[in-house]
Amino acid sequence: MRILVTGGAGFIGSHLCERLLGEGHDVICLDNLFTGSKDNIIHLMDDHRFELVRHDIVEPILLEVDRIYNLACPASPVHYQYNPVKTVKTSVMGAINMLGMAKRVKARILQASTSEVYGDPQVHPQTETYWGNVNPIGIRSCYDEGKRVAETLMMDYHRQNKVDIRIIRIFNTYGPRMAQNDGRVVSNFILQALRNEDITVYGDGSQTRSFCFVTDLVEGMCRMMECDDFIGPVNLGNPVENTILEFAEKIITITGSRSKVIFKPLPQDDPKQRRPDISLAGERLLWQPLIALEAGLAKTAEYFAAQIGKG
Ligand code: NAD
Ligand code: UDP
Repeated sequence: MRILVTGGAGFIGSHLCERLLGEGHDVICLDNLFTGSKDNIIHLMDDHRFELVRHDIVEPILLEVDRIYNLACPASPVHYQYNPVKTVKTSVMGAINMLGMAKRVKARILQASTSEVYGDPQVHPQTETYWGNVNPIGIRSCYDEGKRVAETLMMDYHRQNKVDIRIIRIFNTYGPRMAQNDGRVVSNFILQALRNEDITVYGDGSQTRSFCFVTDLVEGMCRMMECDDFIGPVNLGNPVENTILEFAEKIITITGSRSKVIFKPLPQDDPKQRRPDISLAGERLLWQPLIALEAGLAKTAEYFAAQIGKG
């Protein structure tokens, strides 16, 4: 098949492109390189089945493809809050442009939605039937509400125009090729630990997250795309939940670091708890994550250590 991956030069997108090429598909990676980079896909450039199209998804484009994975959108709070109006445009106009293309060329389209559609959840763990608790006017809203509207557009194009859609809700994902400067907990803590600097826990560290290794996520994404009788939304993530303080301690142990934990103010609207209920993915996709946190963190730390070495 000919497959379009928007945001293909980003962290998750680059792993997805690699996987799809490995399966023998032609892959077009569309990216404006805002948070992604050519370094993430440089190893794919020599493959004649791989193309990079430098394009902003906010502008229309027409490509003849069979599948569209729509991932283009900055994903870390630091990056999506840098230009919040642009973040909304990327999610909303990007979804309209990709859905318009899917309708025109009769492609199947998968939207990379997020656990952020549940906001600061009052139902725990989060199931797909929960409608969420999102602040519509806070500093995370540009991302949360943008992604919620993208889901709405997917469903409306499906109902109104019979577009063949899939929606996945991705929970915190980590692994090699995360950007060093994205301010996320995984990259911050690992880099701080490797440099023996203080580990910056925001708040008292009692908030929880559940971390999924990127190759597990990509497996779930591909299964969902090729599942013929299920459009979602479906949660994809690892249900093993950690407090952020426990997570800091785990990273100190794994890296053998001399770092100490320090506490900093909690950002506004930071969700207090997050854990996916993945029963639906288990039932419909026969999917579950396989990589244990310690093993995934060790691989990620190895990647960051090599990156620092390069710098
Ligand atoms: P990332 O920032 O590494 O990747 C996003 C990619 O989109 C980058 O390559 C960036 O340059 C590109 N992009 C951004 N705006 C664009 C635009 N206007 N036009 C074209 N390209 C644009 O982030 P990621 O972690 O790889 O996330 C990929 C997708 O998965 C995003 O849609 C994100 O919302 C979703 N997601 C990620 C996580 C996670 O934990 N990483 C969790 C939930 C959802
Ligand atoms: N966090 C932290 N220290 C950091 C970066 C993040 O304690 O240096 C916390 C953050 O406040 C949040 C959790 O770690 O509670 C996960 O943050 P991240 O930005 O990685 O993802 P998200 O909040 O989008 O789940």
